[in-house]
Amino acid sequence: LEATELLRTVPVGGFLSRSRRTLLNRVSFTLERGEIVALVGESGSGKSTLARVLARLDTPDAGSLRLGGEDVLTLERGGASLAYRGRVQMVFQDPFASLNPVHTVAHHLERPLLRHGRATRAGLEDRVHALLESVGLTPAEQLAQRYPHELSGGQRQRVAVARALAVEPDVIIADEPTSMLDVSTRRGVLQLLRGLTRERGIGILFITHDLASARHMADRVLVLYAGSVVESGRTADVLAAPRHPYTRLLLSAVPDGADFLNTPLPVRPATGPMPVFGCPFAPRCPHADARCHDTLPPAHVHGAAHTVRCHLESSKGASDNAAVPQ
Ligand code: SF4
Ligand code: MG
Repeated sequence: LEATELLRTVPVGGFLSRSRRTLLNRVSFTLERGEIVALVGESGSGKSTLARVLARLDTPDAGSLRLGGEDVLTLERGGASLAYRGRVQMVFQDPFASLNPVHTVAHHLERPLLRHGRATRAGLEDRVHALLESVGLTPAEQLAQRYPHELSGGQRQRVAVARALAVEPDVIIADEPTSMLDVSTRRGVLQLLRGLTRERGIGILFITHDLASARHMADRVLVLYAGSVVESGRTADVLAAPRHPYTRLLLSAVPDGADFLNTPLPVRPATGPMPVFGCPFAPRCPHADARCHDTLPPAHVHGAAHTVRCHLESSKGASDNAAVPQ
């Protein structure tokens, strides 16, 4: 999956107003099969907007989205086709809302299996049981007959994962999949997701406001601030040696040595309006100077694709440091 310069804006202040708020500001990234990319950011940073765009529940104003080299936004103007949903699946934050209370677990899995031609009527029961076993819901025969209200939050989220797996997708977009689970079940669901990428080669975009889970899960990290990717790279680079002032602020909020699965990021909403020009982080940045307020910082790349969008990078010496055209 390859996103290039995704832009999404919404009008603010009534229909006569011309002003628009930017939800996604030219977001680019790639997600390969078998890798987990964490998208981290606070509430309101644009994480869920991006998830909705990737799931084709929302359409960007500009930019492109390619899946296996095919231009998705051109091919599928009307939203996600059956074929697209067969390749890109979502797991949502709220396992209570994402399952239908009047249907059994088995029913939730049978529908996608049949719709996407992943099982025949004759083989359906076996496929359902195999799916339940693959997400650790055993004994599968019993769990299949239960209704959502008879399951714990963690079990429900496993059903949601099984439902996503039913169509044998290449990509799963997991939007804060564990933020509504208690800590004891969280780890199990994260391990399940990680196992799936390794065993089945599924690419996962793991959306979270919890840096600790990102560190635990991801091969690469994208840090989103006010709709812009301000820093990205391998998890070890971004989270162990963060360069962007915003990433540093986030990391400093998680105490060293704390059980990081227990330490969600404090939400620090941006105060005041977003600047029209310049760095979106400038109003909160301790290092902001005049240029930060009037020029959008270019992306600087270090070593193995560690990208940082900050003016400080241009002053840090040019040897390992090249500005990329936007
Ligand atoms: Fe701070 Fe300026 Fe860098 Fe933005 S560009 S993060 S305001 S130093
Ligand atoms: Mg969200």
